[in-house]
Amino acid sequence: MFFEPFKIKVVEPIPVTTREYREQKLKEAHYNLFLLRSEDITIDLLTDSGTGAMSSKQWSAVMDSDEAYAGSRSYYKFVDVVRTITGFKHIIPTHQGRAAERILFSILGGKGKKIPSNTHFDTTRANIEYTGAEAYDFPTAIAFQTELVADFKGNMDIDKLEDFLKSNPRENIPLVMITATNNSGGGQPVSMENIRKTSELARSHGIPFFIDCCRFAENAYFIKKREEGYEDKTILEIAREMFSYADGCIMSAKKDGLSNTGGFIATNLDDLAEKAKVLLIVTEGFITYGGLARRDLESLAVGLMEALDEKYLEYRVNQVKFLGDELLKRDIPILLPTGGHAVYIDAKRFLPSVPPEQFPGQSIACEIYLEGGVRAVEIGSLMFGKRGQNNEIIANPFELVRLAIPRRVYTNNHLEYVADVTRNVYERREHLKGMRIVYEAPYLRHFTAHLEYV
Ligand SMILES: *Cc1c(COP(=O)(O)O)cnc(C)c1O
Repeated sequence: MFFEPFKIKVVEPIPVTTREYREQKLKEAHYNLFLLRSEDITIDLLTDSGTGAMSSKQWSAVMDSDEAYAGSRSYYKFVDVVRTITGFKHIIPTHQGRAAERILFSILGGKGKKIPSNTHFDTTRANIEYTGAEAYDFPTAIAFQTELVADFKGNMDIDKLEDFLKSNPRENIPLVMITATNNSGGGQPVSMENIRKTSELARSHGIPFFIDCCRFAENAYFIKKREEGYEDKTILEIAREMFSYADGCIMSAKKDGLSNTGGFIATNLDDLAEKAKVLLIVTEGFITYGGLARRDLESLAVGLMEALDEKYLEYRVNQVKFLGDELLKRDIPILLPTGGHAVYIDAKRFLPSVPPEQFPGQSIACEIYLEGGVRAVEIGSLMFGKRGQNNEIIANPFELVRLAIPRRVYTNNHLEYVADVTRNVYERREHLKGMRIVYEAPYLRHFTAHLEYV
């Protein structure tokens, strides 16, 4: 038994539309769900990023903020909290995660550089590649076995990383990264042992180790529940141990910061921090606000601590599992086990008749919208499939449709409705058609691409 460890104080009506209306809107959006207006969406599971509900404590902190340009009280409150959790010396706020990425890779990236990770998130990869560097993913082999239940499918493949570090000159690898939880790999957690081993390996080669820590609290909760020796530790203790193995982290606080925007870089590397502060001032803002309103720093200071509350995390992880179980009851193939922030439909098993180069995940996501006004996102060959020499799409290892659950926003009734909508689509799956791209941008094409049915 789990239940929401909060009650609802403010409500917001959600739009209810007809299929005919949605067909028109999706056509106008060129079959790209990112291009829809949210007023045309009933249940929005596009992302868990910045879409959560803030607590009454956060809202009161917002009112209590100090909007000073330099030296704001709110900044020091934020720094105290981030330092308590991460232990890092330099704390640099940014307006969101990718601003932290851009700054980090502007300093450490560049042509000839190679940056390995368990799996880079899409914006992380884009920010690396934008500098001319190359992004490498070394997930464990079981990460692609969507039906296999295992505790830490988000782990780094340590052997592959070791081979990689041995076969490349040290100066070409400016850092090693781990994404926790592994967002693009299905929201699966990374074990403490794996974080520690990755850190040891990176350090034995003299290479800094960073954590992309957007969902550090959810990851810490899984460690507590699944890894031996952690059952009696607090989430804060576990988080602190995770960070103790790293030289720094980048964070999108729109996730486990329980806030609508925000991010940071935190590190013990003095030289890196100095360079980062210069870039911050050039493009984000002064070092005591980093592109955020000071009220955002207030909501983050409260939200980051609320995210460490075990009752909250129990509700969070179990609500994700609830949606997964409801889908399984309706025979929908999903990635197992459910992760920390989303349920991933396995589009390859859902729609085997549509090949990867025709984006089966996108076809399913469009139909789920048409059926019930539910917005999901494709994570497969549309998001990640590169172009080959003849401009053909090279298939991504997995084809998923992500149903990301905003924090503290939807009830289980909403999620049961989502499961029913998905079942209706599944029952008609042989009528679903493949898709092709008619327009795409050179980077992160899924955000703005135009598509049509083949
Ligand atoms: C969301 C996310 C980012 C990017 O953060 P934004 O705040 O969206 O810019 C980077 N890495 C991971 C793992 C993420 O989930």
